[in-house]
Amino acid sequence: MNLSSRTIAILIALLVAGVLTTYARIGPTLPFREAFLAAGVTVAACFLLVYLSFEALIFREINGIYAGLEHIKRKEFKKLSSKFLFRPEPVKRVRDEILLMAERRQQELDELVRLQALRREFLADVSHELKTPLFAAQGFVHTILDNEDGDIDAPTRRKFLTKAAASLDTLDALVQDLVTIAQLEKGVVRMRRQRFDLVALVREIFELLEQQAARRGTTLELFPPNLPAELPVVADRNRIRQVLVNLVDNAIKYGRDNGRVVVALIEGSRGVRIAVRDDGTGIAPEHQNRIFERFYRIDKSRSRESGGSGLGLAISKHIVEAHKSTIKVKSTVGEGTTLEFKLSKPKGAAGS
Ligand code: ADP
Repeated sequence: MNLSSRTIAILIALLVAGVLTTYARIGPTLPFREAFLAAGVTVAACFLLVYLSFEALIFREINGIYAGLEHIKRKEFKKLSSKFLFRPEPVKRVRDEILLMAERRQQELDELVRLQALRREFLADVSHELKTPLFAAQGFVHTILDNEDGDIDAPTRRKFLTKAAASLDTLDALVQDLVTIAQLEKGVVRMRRQRFDLVALVREIFELLEQQAARRGTTLELFPPNLPAELPVVADRNRIRQVLVNLVDNAIKYGRDNGRVVVALIEGSRGVRIAVRDDGTGIAPEHQNRIFERFYRIDKSRSRESGGSGLGLAISKHIVEAHKSTIKVKSTVGEGTTLEFKLSKPKGAAGS
């Protein structure tokens, strides 16, 4: 049965008036006319009282909730009013609960929409990145295959094949980086923590990148000059090697010609801070957080030209975070860039 606030009010008013009038008629033996009048006044007064209470206390508050839902539908959270006439507690709690739930659902929806956009962007980036080396290799191979007249001599053929191979190597590196990042994001990669010497690792990386640095006239330096012979840390050596290769490689790539790349190892009481510094063009503040995004490049053409997959810093960030540390960037345009993170020292190792 559907009862409106008005029907309920009439029923209650009739009931109260009935009881009161019967009592007044029987008790002090009120004359019939006065009793009838008293009944009329009581019905009217009860009706008004009950009806207005219903309207004000419940129906108006519920209408308020509906109005709130309307605002939520239109995502106007700021317009939600928290005004209550009498603040009936259960109604207020219901209202607050509904609004909170709606706000949470809206946040979840917004996050899903954001992730969906990121996914779309990522797929577009991946296909673009894969296409470039793939088409290059395809072009060289087809040129050789289509050369039925034998116009292309052996050295040129070899040059084309070398270029095709280089493109395929780029493709291979990109696919490997994509697999790594997917695994890191899924959290399936376990860090194999072990004790190792950071000084030896940095020297090994300098040796690896020596020729690349020499081509740009860059000097690779360790800081401070009076480093201890050994600086032990506890981390996954291979993964940290991958991070440092990427940071030093970037410092050479984006540093200036004949510049300096310094790897500073600063020992603290519980850990070692590793900072890779270059004196290149620097990174403007608006790009500083974005360089850790997948495929984000400040100067698209230049970065791609120099052979980077655009995934190096995204992978490095994941690896550093898996070591419960954070990778930070400090940079001044025209002066240079420093990227740094911390690693833990083995328990019981002496600290400064
Ligand atoms: P890439 O393969 O393009 O080098 P990374 O993820 O390693 O990809 O770096 C992302 C972008 O961040 C680079 O394309 C470059 O624009 C910028 N970047 C990284 N390191 C430096 C640096 N030391 N100096 C200036 N810009 C840098």
